[in-house]
Amino acid sequence: MRYKVHRGSHEIGGNCIELISRGKSLLLDIGTPLSDVNPDISYVHGKYDAVIISHSHADHYGLMNMIDKNIPIYIGELSFQLIEALSYFTNYEIPENKFILFKPWKDFIIEGTNFTIHPFLMDHSSPEAFAFLISDDEEKLFYTGDFRATGAKKIVLENLEKHPPKDVKKLIIEGTNLNRQAGNYITEDDIKLAFQKIFITQTNISFVIGSSQNIDRIICAYKAARDAKKTLVMDFYTYWILNLVSQKSDAIKAVLPDIMVLRKGSISGSQYNKMMMHKEIFDEFARTIFRNNQTLTEEDLINNPAAFVFYGRLTHFSLIKKFQLHDLNLIYSQWNGYLTDRVKKNPYGADEINTLKTQTNFIEIHTSGHAYKDDLQRMEAIFPGAELIRVHTEF
Ligand SMILES: [Zn+2]
Ligand SMILES: [Zn+2]
Repeated sequence: MRYKVHRGSHEIGGNCIELISRGKSLLLDIGTPLSDVNPDISYVHGKYDAVIISHSHADHYGLMNMIDKNIPIYIGELSFQLIEALSYFTNYEIPENKFILFKPWKDFIIEGTNFTIHPFLMDHSSPEAFAFLISDDEEKLFYTGDFRATGAKKIVLENLEKHPPKDVKKLIIEGTNLNRQAGNYITEDDIKLAFQKIFITQTNISFVIGSSQNIDRIICAYKAARDAKKTLVMDFYTYWILNLVSQKSDAIKAVLPDIMVLRKGSISGSQYNKMMMHKEIFDEFARTIFRNNQTLTEEDLINNPAAFVFYGRLTHFSLIKKFQLHDLNLIYSQWNGYLTDRVKKNPYGADEINTLKTQTNFIEIHTSGHAYKDDLQRMEAIFPGAELIRVHTEF
């Protein structure tokens, strides 16, 4: 088995690695570059037999709509639903390629090739992130995808250590944090406690700005709010994502009834209209929320702000501005590169949140979705003697 890293060896994001065996080729991920360092993406026009996506972060799947429409795309069932959700709520268009959905832990063969895949569910800031053990007739390769061992699924790395795949000749490993020091918070439990400390004494609403797909973080916000006797509120989109993930997790199913959903207003109103354009998908979901009296309006929040925690995104700045700002807790809980100029183009809302920093009680409480040095070394030790191929690194 030969490999070629098309992208991602000296940058974080834009992962794309080609594996070649007996004249057949498989792309591991086809992500959007986060930065401008290397604008050449001509490899997307290459001839490949299939693409396999490790998880639903755009730096791993974002360029899939540029490849030949005849190339099949293998992707996890939930990852596909998460990308599909974007197509309902935003302008994202899913490509016409054939999608072949797989499940965690279930082996499959890439059709027309001799690549066999065993997908390992990993701990990451996406609810379904895979590592792949890939074999052809000759050798085995392990691709970690993005991973860490400090979140809800940390046991996966322990299990890998207990039952290491044997005879792996090549290890493609992410190295986002290889040269970075962890910040004030390491685990998701650290985050939960830090949130809770703030929520307990809040005299106004707290906003947590994070990713709608970072389920570990949403659950932290939920538990912290619950233990501080506050109510967690979110928009339809985030609640829909939680609802999708709950179909694979009883623990998440159990928290759904305790969370409130914002109805009406500029954000939720337009989301509701989008949902009603796909009634066949969202009708029952929407009915359940309303039937269970799980909705609130902006006025409900403004009238009693100290009772609530809102889990939102950068784009929720217009909602934040409707509250008294000086004692509002604005908790930033995702990669701070979006607020600086470390990405090609700051995402929508970043400038406004930067302005709100000085007007509110702004606090950064975040831990990375990626392993730090110790856990990277643990991963390497699982595959002694394997050739080490680093990707998703800054250097
Ligand atoms: Zn990721
Ligand atoms: Zn990534």
